Amino acid sequence: MTDAAFQPVSGLDLPRFAGIPTFMRLPHVGLDDPRLAQVQIGLIGAPWDGGTTNRAGARHGPRGLRDASTMIRAENGVTRVRPFEAARCADLGDVAPNPGDLMDTMARMEAFYARVRASGVRPLTGGGDHLCTLPILRALAKGGPLGMIQFDSHTDLFDSYFGGTKYTHGTPFRRAVEEGLIDPARVTQIGIRGTAYDREDWDFAASVGLRIISMAEVWQRGFADVMAEACARAGSGDTYVTYDIDFVDPSVAPGTGTPEWGGPNAWQALEVVRMLEGVRIVGADVVEVSPPFDPSGGTAYLGASVMFELLCQMAGG
Ligand code: MN
Ligand code: MN
Repeated sequence: MTDAAFQPVSGLDLPRFAGIPTFMRLPHVGLDDPRLAQVQIGLIGAPWDGGTTNRAGARHGPRGLRDASTMIRAENGVTRVRPFEAARCADLGDVAPNPGDLMDTMARMEAFYARVRASGVRPLTGGGDHLCTLPILRALAKGGPLGMIQFDSHTDLFDSYFGGTKYTHGTPFRRAVEEGLIDPARVTQIGIRGTAYDREDWDFAASVGLRIISMAEVWQRGFADVMAEACARAGSGDTYVTYDIDFVDPSVAPGTGTPEWGGPNAWQALEVVRMLEGVRIVGADVVEVSPPFDPSGGTAYLGASVMFELLCQMAGG
């Protein structure tokens, strides 16, 4: 189903360091562009880190991801999937944040993604911190709670920070459960590790039946085994995939605000996405890429590569 109008610029035609860097060199199709009606998968930047509790910088993620994504070619080197031929993809631009107002930004994001959903476009987002996922879920879960697979070294299931603040990048999935945006029985968090404040997040997960697979369990059982469990839990219903780049070991992905040692290497980081078998992905994101902490650009390139793997899963073919 190759559609010439939605092909990325090839490095064989224009060197990859040249041109305006959209996501994966795709055409830019804004929400007011009539071509939006033809788009099936929209790549979106969410340049906002207003939920960050420690080291900020993920607001620069979309710029870094777009630039790094110009290195990506049209065909998956492992699966041979050619996502831009299997689905009409475009860069829908950035959702505009209000850096001075957290609640206003979340309202703007939800409205943006509601328009995306109404156009029949499945969003693939480059963040931004992990709070960005909450307004996305609010827009996408209108038909009922979603399943979710979360790659992360943190649960982001805490109730509040700093004496009652409910909206930070450490709380989005507590809110998502409370608001009925995700069905805990169909949610799996993978890769959790590091030091902890307490067990409040794990206790909450257990109380609602949300499955946490620690990194220790991943290393014990292997990636294929835990991914089979996560996919089985998600089942055949609509499912969101959220990928916090701090899931990956900081030796290969240091460009993030809250690194934790002991995660997967770069190959494993990409391979787990290829293990999303049979999952009905209605949207996905890669969040917490913070280019200021990795001037080499390596973390952004890995994040863009994870986005490409997610795109291949979403496009099928
Ligand atoms: Mn996270
Ligand atoms: Mn994290």
